[in-house]
Amino acid sequence: MRPQFTCRGALPALVREKVVAALAAGQEKEARILDELGRIGCGASLDEIHAAIPEDGKEHSAECPKCGIEVVFRRIPTAEAAALAAEAEAAETPAGT
Ligand SMILES: [Zn+2]
Repeated sequence: MRPQFTCRGALPALVREKVVAALAAGQEKEARILDELGRIGCGASLDEIHAAIPEDGKEHSAECPKCGIEVVFRRIPTAEAAALAAEAEAAETPAGT
């Protein structure tokens, strides 16, 4: 099975500087492209880490087991997520059928 969450890898310092400079210059698109292309692919599965964090709707940071960069996850409580899913389902059902 393919992991649901994979590590994007670290951003080398040199590229990070360019991203920060682009952001400072208001070039958000360029910054995003640099960020995407500049990362060293890690690809480690973060599913176990994701599964281990509490479902409290708060942000939790953890370390990638392979490359050690900080990863941040936020899990919405299951009851709340189920309610949101039910709401979405209700919205998708056409009225009067
Ligand atoms: Zn990693």
